[in-house]
Amino acid sequence: MGKNKKTRKVVMQRFAQMKKMISLSDSRIKPEKRQPSKKAPKEDKAKIKVTEAPQQSSALFFQYNTQLGPPYHILIDTNFINFSIKNKLDIIQNMMHCLYAKCIPYITDCVMGELEKLGQKYKLALKIIKDPRFERLTCMHRGTYADDCIVNRVTQHKCYIVATNDKDLKRRIRKIPGVPIMYVSQHRYTIERMPDAYGAPK
Ligand SMILES: [Zn+2]
Repeated sequence: MGKNKKTRKVVMQRFAQMKKMISLSDSRIKPEKRQPSKKAPKEDKAKIKVTEAPQQSSALFFQYNTQLGPPYHILIDTNFINFSIKNKLDIIQNMMHCLYAKCIPYITDCVMGELEKLGQKYKLALKIIKDPRFERLTCMHRGTYADDCIVNRVTQHKCYIVATNDKDLKRRIRKIPGVPIMYVSQHRYTIERMPDAYGAPK
């Protein structure tokens, strides 16, 4: 074997090693033969990052909902009226006692509809809410299912407190920021998500 041939062999071997060392995703390999890089592509810093978050009301900027009264606007559901009657609680008087401020109770058309459907047994409830101090809210939706209506209203307008003793409705309202919940507990009204309120649990 001549000296030249030997050198050539060594060079060829080296070349083979070099070939091995190049990663299959190396940019020197033609794009159609190149394997996709395992490394995550570098983030484009010029690109605006988009994160998805539900839009929050600007009234909640300081966590405390600045759109809340007094006077407080309180959306009442059917079961809150019935609980109040069972506990012999005058609605307006006890609301004011709970919040220590003027309260305006609101009855939606669908809550009225629910009570009317319940029949004779709830005559007293109907009589109570026909008091002129109770404001009426007109509903544009179909049917008399009040839960969806109340959830929609407080999602759109952050100026309400919801008065309910219904477990499911309370759970739904808790998912909406800035909406306090009034409920009957131990024969009186109490309020959650409003720690500064007079009637809030201490
Ligand atoms: Zn309604």
